[in-house]
Amino acid sequence: MLSNFLPNEHVKSVFDIQPETLKRQGIKGIITDLDNTLVAWDVKDATPEVIQWFKLMKDHDIKVTIISNNNQERVQVFSDPLETPFVYSARKPLGRAFKTVAKEMNLKREEIVVIGDQILTDVLGGNFAGFYTILVVPIVQTDGKITRINRKIERRILNYMRRKGKISWEE
Ligand SMILES: [Mg+2]
Repeated sequence: MLSNFLPNEHVKSVFDIQPETLKRQGIKGIITDLDNTLVAWDVKDATPEVIQWFKLMKDHDIKVTIISNNNQERVQVFSDPLETPFVYSARKPLGRAFKTVAKEMNLKREEIVVIGDQILTDVLGGNFAGFYTILVVPIVQTDGKITRINRKIERRILNYMRRKGKISWEE
């Protein structure tokens, strides 16, 4: 049970995730969270760095889809200029959005990585649905209201796992 809360990998930022490495691991698709993963939760548009990262993935034939629990306006305004598919109100950690996207990508589960900044939504959801999960450090330390509650629970899980020696990364 506890292992469902553990990401397969933990990196500082999405920009540490590079197409060459993914391809070596047989990865052909990325499902990524938006808020505090790609940009801060209160930043409306993609930054030049994000635009560049999406282009890089595209150049390497790696499909990217954004899955967010946030509302349609937020997710669409961000995703449309990137010309990337997206799912809003995804209700992570429920598995439905993940599975639908995998189907749309026409890829196997083991060919997709799930990236996000939250254990209780991104990592748990990705693990439940059977994907390889990568946790990133949240871009900013502030959060929207609902996430703030999740973070409290998350911190307790992380502390517990750290005590049990299941986590080796630094915070
Ligand atoms: Mg997030």
